[in-house]
Amino acid sequence: MDEDMDEELDGLEVTACKRCPELVDSRSQIVNGTGPEDADILFVGEGPGANEDEQGEPFVGRSGSVLDDTLLVVGLEREDVRITNCVRCRPPENRDPTTTELENCRGYLEAEIERLDPDVLVTLGKVPSEHLLDRSVGITSEAGSVEEIRVNGSPRRVVLSVHPAATLYDRSQEETFRDALETAADLAGADGSTSSQRRLDGF
Ligand code: URA
Repeated sequence: MDEDMDEELDGLEVTACKRCPELVDSRSQIVNGTGPEDADILFVGEGPGANEDEQGEPFVGRSGSVLDDTLLVVGLEREDVRITNCVRCRPPENRDPTTTELENCRGYLEAEIERLDPDVLVTLGKVPSEHLLDRSVGITSEAGSVEEIRVNGSPRRVVLSVHPAATLYDRSQEETFRDALETAADLAGADGSTSSQRRLDGF
């Protein structure tokens, strides 16, 4: 992380970033990650939409409801996991973030990954999958697969997932999404870690 970035970060909160002029214009606020800093699972989305921009929290709109509901199905609660995005400011007209914007925000994401040191990352959709894997991804066919990447030299396990919104357009994606979350929950629970990750018994 460069020195400028250090000044823009307060713990894991980005407080004052002006790196992306278009996003500074389009955002109402910076949307930082939410959830415990010792979570075993870190979900990584693309970037805030209108609801997130308004409320200042990732995945609080319809996609967020799908995520919350599916977490419960696999025995997890939103409060137990950390949720963040590749970019922290809402792109205009909900367009995809540009490569430059993704790069501008990369250091914040890396800082969050390093601080959390989660058992597993889950990429929610094509954009975060391609950003973290640094290759093109066919997310519908690759969802559920587990890959190892390196972030600042440290190995990190990544479960690829479709974006929760995909289930709203195509019901057949519900199972794909649920299976990916189940895989992540299994990986996070299977290593005997002692952190706070809690799966709800018999839910
Ligand atoms: N989609 C995303 O990728 N991120 C959010 O925070 C909300 C919707």
